[in-house]
Amino acid sequence: MSELLPRAVNVNRTEGTLSVVWPDGTATTVPLMKLRQVCPCATCAESRGENPHPGLLEAPPAAKPRSRGLPMLGDVRKFQISGMHHVGRYALGVTWADNHQSIYSWTFLAEMKAAPPSST
Ligand SMILES: [Zn+2]
Repeated sequence: MSELLPRAVNVNRTEGTLSVVWPDGTATTVPLMKLRQVCPCATCAESRGENPHPGLLEAPPAAKPRSRGLPMLGDVRKFQISGMHHVGRYALGVTWADNHQSIYSWTFLAEMKAAPPSST
């Protein structure tokens, strides 16, 4: 697994999915909504309420004033991809329609495959 460079990355805007075709011919298809929800950047981790120090329950984060008070599911642009680019040889950079940028390493995407059937 040293080299995990996909053959192709396809976005199906109609279905709202991203497909990564791996060198072995298998593919990982991830709904864009899910992809955005698991964005590994610090901003998103924070907005998901992930505490970098579990066990330390600090005061709940003050409700930051947002520029817009739209409910999350109402902002469909969050879940639409406006552009993609390679980040070196190890990751996929995604620009979302709301201009948020995400970086997903190929390893991260590979781990989003459905759990393989136990064949051992
Ligand atoms: Zn993010």
